[in-house]
Amino acid sequence: MRVAYCEQDKWQFDPRYTQGQCPICGWAPAGAPSAPRWLALANRVDWELLALFLFADALIVLGLVVAHGAGLLPVR
Ligand SMILES: [Zn+2]
Repeated sequence: MRVAYCEQDKWQFDPRYTQGQCPICGWAPAGAPSAPRWLALANRVDWELLALFLFADALIVLGLVVAHGAGLLPVR
């Protein structure tokens, strides 16, 4: 089965590209391939925001390294 048809939405879709569900109402046709659980979880994570925080952390660490090398940090 390549193409599924949602009667409720009058919408034809390929379940291979919509994680096995109707993209409008979420109806899952019988026998449609569904995405593995890890992929559904990975799609829910906001990777761009996570990367932004990691990048900010790396910049702070780099700043501390430079400040230490320049002798700007108070010596204990
Ligand atoms: Zn639908």
